[in-house]
Amino acid sequence: MTEEDRETTQVLICGCGPTGALLAGYLCRMGISSIVLEKEASIVTDPRGIVLDDDGIRFLQGLGLYKHIFAEIGPCIDRVRFIGGEHQDLGREPIFSIDIGTSEGNTGHPGMIAHKQPTLEKYLRRVVEFSELSQIRTRCTLTSIHEDKDWVYVTYVDSTGVERQVKSRFLAAADGKTGFTRKNYLEPKGIRLEWAEQAKYDETWVALNWKIHLPTPETHPSFPLWALGYSPQQVYELFFPSGFRLLCNPRRSAVCGRFGPPEDRLWRFEFVVSPGEDEMEMAQLDKIREVVFPYFTHPGKRYDLNIDVKFPEDCIEILRSRPFRFYARSCNKWALGRVILCGDAAHVFPPFGGQGIASGFRDAISLAWRLAIACRSDVDYDQLFMGWYLERKQQLERSLASTVRNGDMVTSSNRLLISIRDWALWTLQLIPSWKHWLELGPRAEAPVSYKYVMGMPFIPEKRGGVYFPQTYCASLSETNRIYFTDDVIFDQNQGTKLFRVVVLLNRLDELAHAVSDLQAVGGISQDVHLDGSAFFVPKGSLPDSAVDGAIPAGFGDRLFRSATAEEFAQSELCIDRPFPRGYNELLMWQASKGMRYVILRPDRFVFAMCQSRLELEQAIKRLVEIF
Ligand SMILES: Cc1cc2nc3c(=O)[nH]c(=O)nc-3n(C[C@H](O)[C@H](O)[C@H](O)COP(=O)(O)OP(=O)(O)OC[C@H]3O[C@@H](n4cnc5c(N)ncnc54)[C@H](O)[C@@H]3O)c2cc1C
Repeated sequence: MTEEDRETTQVLICGCGPTGALLAGYLCRMGISSIVLEKEASIVTDPRGIVLDDDGIRFLQGLGLYKHIFAEIGPCIDRVRFIGGEHQDLGREPIFSIDIGTSEGNTGHPGMIAHKQPTLEKYLRRVVEFSELSQIRTRCTLTSIHEDKDWVYVTYVDSTGVERQVKSRFLAAADGKTGFTRKNYLEPKGIRLEWAEQAKYDETWVALNWKIHLPTPETHPSFPLWALGYSPQQVYELFFPSGFRLLCNPRRSAVCGRFGPPEDRLWRFEFVVSPGEDEMEMAQLDKIREVVFPYFTHPGKRYDLNIDVKFPEDCIEILRSRPFRFYARSCNKWALGRVILCGDAAHVFPPFGGQGIASGFRDAISLAWRLAIACRSDVDYDQLFMGWYLERKQQLERSLASTVRNGDMVTSSNRLLISIRDWALWTLQLIPSWKHWLELGPRAEAPVSYKYVMGMPFIPEKRGGVYFPQTYCASLSETNRIYFTDDVIFDQNQGTKLFRVVVLLNRLDELAHAVSDLQAVGGISQDVHLDGSAFFVPKGSLPDSAVDGAIPAGFGDRLFRSATAEEFAQSELCIDRPFPRGYNELLMWQASKGMRYVILRPDRFVFAMCQSRLELEQAIKRLVEIF
């Protein structure tokens, strides 16, 4: 093969699951070319992941997918209920629940959606397909890798069985937990998938996906609830209630809930395989009848009937019934030379926190901008990717801790400890502020703030390394049109420069000063976008006339005020999602602790916060030194 026969791209991505697709999407946004190899012919139709947290929603939004999220990918979950006790009653009062439907976190989004992974992947791929910078090649299997100091060389077998060669600056392996890259290329070089320190969790569960068909008086005339006046939809609601349930049953832990768009009527039930049981056998229908169907048989006395009421089995279409081994593991290194692991290829989670896909997304968005820098400069990429790994590891530990907490609740079987736990939870909930804290779940924690370690690209003494919140804002030029702040900060029309400056004014009369500060530091860095910086001012500080549309000359289209929950609720952004309860419109100002300028990285982490022109100049010069 001659050099001319070898195709060239900036980044080769192996695997087009959620991580690979999101990475390709963000690389396109940053102006970086990529080729994505995917061995399957089409998106895997089996919905594996079904829960995505609010960071995940924020990252989908960042690719312009917001309008598809709640209506098509999956609705918001209202509550996650932890149900205690040895019974099979999904309607039982929970020992406590997490109020997921609020917007009390850092993103302006509800805490979770219950999505359909194939639809999520379809929209992610669409972003890539619409871009000229990237190509997804299906039925293409990566088969060999080697690298030198400048390039990675990859061989793959295409859909016609022909071997092809590509060279790229970097290879991002998003090829899943059994992927080729780690096993065949990196493990022989010393990379290992190790037990995550906090949790040696390793259990086999059976995961079921059901599609529920509505029984009707015509199809099931003898079903006893028709005589009591129930409609088919009401029967569905009774047996397959909304929300997500973690069944902390000491005899057998399980989790269940709806997922995907409501009209699809999809239901997930996962239960643990106990020691001594055969996992394949436990996934067979007769065992499912034994373990799972009791949850869908209601005692007759609930309806004043003398027979039990069983949801008709022929209305349950089994889409998946498979054992699956859940464990918590992470690789000892995620990057070696020009080859980088991300998503499940780098780490795997048990299912209790819905952190699998979200963690892959976090890897991808924080890797994309580093790849963009590494592709166009002679930066020390080893250090760049080491910084990425160290940051991601800190965040991963936090995700793991919340997953482990949930897992401990669900899987505990020590009756004494369970009694103490339930009593403590009951007591805590007598005090409204503690109940509220419990209901916040993982969102009760402060936003992620990286503990600085050499090599992390932010300025710790300038409050860098903090996850910056997203709120809602209104344009002062388009008569109060409502936006998400990320959408105006990372506005695509403002070009592909990576770092954005957020200007947080306390009053409108600070604008002129801020503009001259930005003009004074222009030209120091090619990576910091200053011309298109977004200026924000609190709504409460504006005179009425300005709210009504009086715009300072020249800056109208970059000037925004904070927007209230009520304004957001009346905008089209709130269609198909709940009212943003608990939303704090001043969160950006609170997070910046009085600093006027926030230099924001593309992964929504702060590079530095500055108050004066001098500080801003120093921070931008530091950025130039780092990259
Ligand atoms: C039963 C179950 C329940 C789960 N529940 C949740 C949940 O509720 N929430 C959650 O967030 N996560 C959940 N997960 C995990 C979630 O599905 C994964 O974390 C997620 O799919 C990982 O995405 P990924 O892109 O990193 O890897 P994958 O989705 O595994 O994608 C890897 C891709 O690489 C391709 N590939 C592999 N080798 C090659 C090669 N040599 N050449 C070309 N292509 C290759 C594969 O075909 C695949 O498409 C669950 C998983 C299971 C199985």
